Amino acid sequence: MEIRALLIEEMQDQYDAEKQLVKALPKLVKASSNPELSHAFAAHLEETKGHVERLEQAFEILGVRPKAKPCAAMKGLVEETQEWLAEKMPDEVQDSAVICAAQKVEHYEIAGYGTMCAWAAALGLNDVESLLRETLDEEKAADEKLSLVADQILAEAGVLNGKAPAKTRSAGSQRSGY
Ligand code: FE
Ligand code: FE
Ligand code: ZN
Repeated sequence: MEIRALLIEEMQDQYDAEKQLVKALPKLVKASSNPELSHAFAAHLEETKGHVERLEQAFEILGVRPKAKPCAAMKGLVEETQEWLAEKMPDEVQDSAVICAAQKVEHYEIAGYGTMCAWAAALGLNDVESLLRETLDEEKAADEKLSLVADQILAEAGVLNGKAPAKTRSAGSQRSGY
């Protein structure tokens, strides 16, 4: 197999991954207790629809029909997010767990797009590379936004910088992992 074929296969994987996210993100918008988090997921849902479109444009430039190849990794990552949502826990803890799962998604995407950009650049496919890079930058920004919101949620819950939340400080101090 040549690198060009590898690039196309990876685009097919990511195309499926992005489509899975278009379906999964609305659930996270609804399930997030923190309004900033809900807003971040809503904004990334709109961006993700754009990621699907950019991949379609990239397929077109390469002269191939857009095809999705089932991404098993994204299926697993989305399942892990659902597992957190199914568990009963305090709002800020559940939001924190969902952010963890969502950041794993972003890192998976960052790895894929980073590699695809490098392959496209190596092949001199500048138009394809710049499309993929635009998405890469949005994935990185989404990841950074999630880190910020995560800290905010911990701060609001009083668990940032080693402080235990006031309400559990006495009762739960021995099992406090913060
Ligand atoms: Fe994406
Ligand atoms: Fe994949
Ligand atoms: Zn993303």
